[in-house]
Amino acid sequence: MEKQIIFEGKEKRIYSADGEDRIIIHYKDMTTAFGGIKQALLKGKGKYSCRISAMLFSALEKEGIRTHFLSLLSDREQLCLRLEPIPLQLVVRNRIAGSTAKMLGVENGLRIPNTLLEFRYNCDELGDPMINEDHAVALGIATYDELSQMRAIALKTDEILKELYHRAGIELIDFKLEFARDADGCLRISDELSPDNSRLWDEADGRVLDKDRFRFDMSEVCSSYREVMERLEKTIKQ
Ligand code: 5GP
Repeated sequence: MEKQIIFEGKEKRIYSADGEDRIIIHYKDMTTAFGGIKQALLKGKGKYSCRISAMLFSALEKEGIRTHFLSLLSDREQLCLRLEPIPLQLVVRNRIAGSTAKMLGVENGLRIPNTLLEFRYNCDELGDPMINEDHAVALGIATYDELSQMRAIALKTDEILKELYHRAGIELIDFKLEFARDADGCLRISDELSPDNSRLWDEADGRVLDKDRFRFDMSEVCSSYREVMERLEKTIKQ
């Protein structure tokens, strides 16, 4: 069967797959930031993000966390479940950095005694505003029960990913999760898990290894993504 494009986004392309309930997600080299205002083609970025995501989704599935990931088809393509998307982002923070450091007027990377969870309404036109559970229920985006499940999944995911990254000598500062409902109405993690939507700092010297390199013109974006991939591959093989 010939692959049909279902959706073309800035950084990914979605194709139909054999079977109504599956899709193929192609990771492109196009890299965007600040809602698409900044864009560049970075050779190899799609491949590294795709492989890192596949490794992390597999690791989560092994620990009983449901995701949309089924298998890696090639360096840039994943076979995934076709799910009902939920227009929410859940940002998990182990330190306060980025937009929340700015919002609260604290140093970038402030250490905190707890794990912060922030819901955002996934809406480009509004700039993905931060919302609380009451807003999400009021807009009919999710139920209170689903939101509480998302919080629990996010915290368990954070524990697993933090440990995995730590074994690779990398500190997981924060990351963004998206969720979707499967045919049984169960929540699954969707989208991706890569340096594109996580802050990753080298434990040895604090070196930034994620998309902030692109956002803030720090150069060596792709080599940092490749380094994250290689360090995780080595860790997972051990
Ligand atoms: P912040 O809110 O500090 O900008 O981002 C928090 C974390 O979520 C970072 O790891 C960032 O990469 C990720 N994140 C937040 N919003 C987006 C988004 O719209 N797209 C992507 N790819 N990642 C995001």
